[in-house]
Amino acid sequence: MPINFIHPEYEVIRDFNKCIKCRVCERQCSNEVHKLDPDHNIMTADDSKCVCCHRCVSVCPTKALKIVKSDHTFKTNSNWMPETITEIYRQAESGGVLLSSMGNPKPFPVYWDKILINASQVTNPSIDPLREPMETKTFLGAKPNKIERDKDGRLINNLPPQLELTLPIMFSAMSYGSISYNAHESLARAARELGIYYNTGEGGLHEDFYQYGANTIVQVASGRFGVHKGYLDAAAAVEIKMGQGAKPGIGGHLPGTKIGSDISKTRMIPEGTDAISPAPHHDIYSIEDLRQLVYSLKEATEYKKPVIVKIAAVHNVAAIASGIARSGADIISIDGFRGGTGAAPTRIRDNVGIPIELALASVDERLRAEGIRGNVSLVIGGSVRSSTDVVKAIALGADAVYIGTAALIALGCHLCRSCHTGLCNWGIATQKAELVKRLNPEVGYTRLVNLITAWRHEITELMGCMGINSIEALKGNRLMLRGIGLNEKELEILGIKHAGE
Ligand code: SF4
Ligand code: SF4
Ligand code: SF4
Repeated sequence: MPINFIHPEYEVIRDFNKCIKCRVCERQCSNEVHKLDPDHNIMTADDSKCVCCHRCVSVCPTKALKIVKSDHTFKTNSNWMPETITEIYRQAESGGVLLSSMGNPKPFPVYWDKILINASQVTNPSIDPLREPMETKTFLGAKPNKIERDKDGRLINNLPPQLELTLPIMFSAMSYGSISYNAHESLARAARELGIYYNTGEGGLHEDFYQYGANTIVQVASGRFGVHKGYLDAAAAVEIKMGQGAKPGIGGHLPGTKIGSDISKTRMIPEGTDAISPAPHHDIYSIEDLRQLVYSLKEATEYKKPVIVKIAAVHNVAAIASGIARSGADIISIDGFRGGTGAAPTRIRDNVGIPIELALASVDERLRAEGIRGNVSLVIGGSVRSSTDVVKAIALGADAVYIGTAALIALGCHLCRSCHTGLCNWGIATQKAELVKRLNPEVGYTRLVNLITAWRHEITELMGCMGINSIEALKGNRLMLRGIGLNEKELEILGIKHAGE
C-alpha cells in the first residue's frame, strides 16, 4: 500500500447547503481539485492539489467555498518545524531542488514597517495638495556636474539622456513567457496611460508591443533572448540585467513546455527548447567588462537612451554600485531579497541577498560620500507594497521605485506562489490559452491605472503633510524619517534617527 508522507497544506471547505453543483469550480481550477462524483451526485475536492489561489472561491456563484490552512499537526518541536519536515519528505520523494515563485515569504524584518514619516506642525506649515501644486514628475539618468554656457552666456544642454516619469513608479521587469501576453498588454497600456515605464524582462519584445516603445524598458540579460537592433531601437531605455533579488547569483530557466510559437519567435529560440540564461554574463568579469557592454549598448542606440544596470541587493552592494556608477551606466536598479520571480530555487529565494531598505540606504550613502551620486539615478524594487513604501524609499535616497508583485496583485494575483507550474488560474503567470483569456487586458490595464492613480493621491497627501511640494525635495531627505524598534546598527545603516530623537 503506497504511503503518502505529505499532508495537504490547505483544505477546501464546501458548504453543501449552499452548493448548487454548478461545477464552475471544477471548470475554473486548473489544478483539478474539484470533481463531481457522479455515483453520489456530490462535489468532491482533492485537497492535496490545492495551491490556495482563491479562484474557485471568487467565482463560486453561491459563495459556498472557502480555503483554510490545514490544522494537521506534527508533534511540537521548536527545531524541526512542520515546513522543514515536509520539505525533506518532498525532496526524499523527488530527488530534486525545491522550486517556488514570487518573493521571499520568510519572517525577516520588513524595514518599511519600522520607519515612520514626519509631519509638519506649527513652524513649518503643511501643504494642502488639493489646493496647492504638487510636483510628482521626476527624471532618471545621469546629471551633469556643472552648468555650462556658450560664449554668449547661453546655457549649453549637457544633459545626458533622461527618462521622464509623471511619478516615481515603474513596472518592474517581467518577461513574456514568465507572464502572459494579456498581462504584458495590461502593463504596457497602463504605462503609456500613466506616463511611466514597464519593462520587458529578459524575454524579448513581442512585435505587437512595439507601439508602446516610448514607455518600454528593454532588458539585455545573460541569455540575450530576443535582443537585436530593432528591439533596442524600439525602447526608451535599455537595462542590463546582472542580477535579480529573488535569485541573486543564478540565471533563469523557462521550461520548454512554456516556449510556444509566439514566445519562441519573441525570444529567438526554437520552439519547445528550455530558455536557460546563464548565471554570469560570459563576457563580464569586471567593471571594465561591464563598461564595455554599457558603451556597446549606448553606441548601438546612438547615445540617445539611458542604460540601466540591474543588480540584486547583496552584502557588498554599495561597493558594487560604486563600480557601476563609474561604468558609464545612467541608472542603477537594485532588487531586494523579497523581489518576486516566476520561478526560483526555494533555498536561494529564501536565504540569499539582503533587504532592499538597507541596500538602498547604504548605496545612496556610499555614492554621496564618493561624490558620484549625480553620475546615476537609483531605482529600487523588491517588495514595494504601498504608497508609503514609495515615499520612504524616495526619502531614503531612491529616485524611483519598480513595482512587480503589487502590479500583479492589482491584476488579480492571489500570491499562491505557484507561477512556476504555469497553471496560474488568474491568467497571469501562464501561457495556456484557456487560462490567459481569463485576464482581460482592458480590465487589467484599468486596474493598474486605478492603483497607481490611488497611490499618486496618497503620495501627494503624504508629501503635503510633510510640508514638501516636490519629489525632488523629498529625495534623500532622511530627516523626514524616524526608526521604531530598530537597533543602533540598523539606524546607522539606514541613516535615520530613532523616533523621539
Ligand atoms: S462553484 Fe460553488 S456552487 Fe458551483 S459546484 Fe462549486 S462549490 Fe458548488
Ligand atoms: S487551487 Fe485555487 S481554484 Fe483550485 S481549489 Fe485551490 S483555491 Fe480553488
Ligand atoms: S501570478 Fe498566478 S500563479 Fe503566480 S502567485 Fe499570482 S496567482 Fe499564483
